[in-house]
Amino acid sequence: AREESRRSTSWTGPGRTSDGIPVAVLANVQDGAGARAARDTAAEGVGLFRTELCFLDRDFEPSVQEQADIYGEVLEAFAGRKVVIRTLDAGSDKPLRFAHHQDEPNPALGVRGIRIAARNAGILERQLDAIALAAEHVGHRPLVMAPMISTAAEAASFGDAVRAHELVPGVMIEVPAAALQADRLLRHVDFLSVGTNDLTQYTMAADRMSSELASLTDPWQPAVLSLVATAAAAGRRAGKPVGVCGEAAADPVLACVLAGLGITSLSCAGAAVARVGAKLGSVTMGACARAADAALATDSPVAARAAALGALETP
Ligand code: PEP
Ligand code: MG
Repeated sequence: AREESRRSTSWTGPGRTSDGIPVAVLANVQDGAGARAARDTAAEGVGLFRTELCFLDRDFEPSVQEQADIYGEVLEAFAGRKVVIRTLDAGSDKPLRFAHHQDEPNPALGVRGIRIAARNAGILERQLDAIALAAEHVGHRPLVMAPMISTAAEAASFGDAVRAHELVPGVMIEVPAAALQADRLLRHVDFLSVGTNDLTQYTMAADRMSSELASLTDPWQPAVLSLVATAAAAGRRAGKPVGVCGEAAADPVLACVLAGLGITSLSCAGAAVARVGAKLGSVTMGACARAADAALATDSPVAARAAALGALETP
């Protein structure tokens, strides 16, 4: 533990395994202040900017210019570096009043994320206008991804909308259907980002907010790891990057397993960046791959973690 803490205090990036295979370590942010704070870490960029968190207190949709100013702050903080902006993930645990959600008996399975665009395409269009405006103003082009994609058709329509704004499109893998269809989604977009918080919730059919179900909502669940592996393999086949931006990326041991599954970047809270980067830098990609295989071969999260730890500690 002392050695790990020493390693993370002195870790300055960039993310790579001890044998030099790059795995970018990025930060999750929710506004300009968060991005400026993340810049003080060794994060190489922003892997997830949760835009909906800027507007949880709003009754009315912010104007394009106001949105552009907010997005521009994040772009400026990481000028010249990778920034992934997520379009509004409204609904369920993050209701936005201006998205006019109706009462739904099952909001986590309701109109959330990209699904609000089917009812109100203007919200997405204006947000993309704002991102393009911010990009032009700052002179830095971000990547833009959609939450809660379930079908290739949704990915295709999002990809078209983002490219029409001369931005680079990607989609999140949060729904098991999306992981299973990752090959097809990648025909329409340039990258994937696995949201392990929701992917775990929907794979295990267990509410991510329930403490009673914590052993099910554990990203070490072998079924979840198997879907991450499916998405990563699709990325490898297509020659396109597949990152992880859920809380799983903040666990240094799990981060090594994700890298071993073929994940190309890890985005986590700024506070976790150095620990994740330092751990990755202490193991080879071969050990990560063995840890991933060992975890996938188990029947439970506890066994998966123990098997991964064993593999990582074996030279
Ligand atoms: C996720 O689901 O893992 C994710 C990154 O999105 P959020 O936590 O904002 O739902
Ligand atoms: Mg999510």
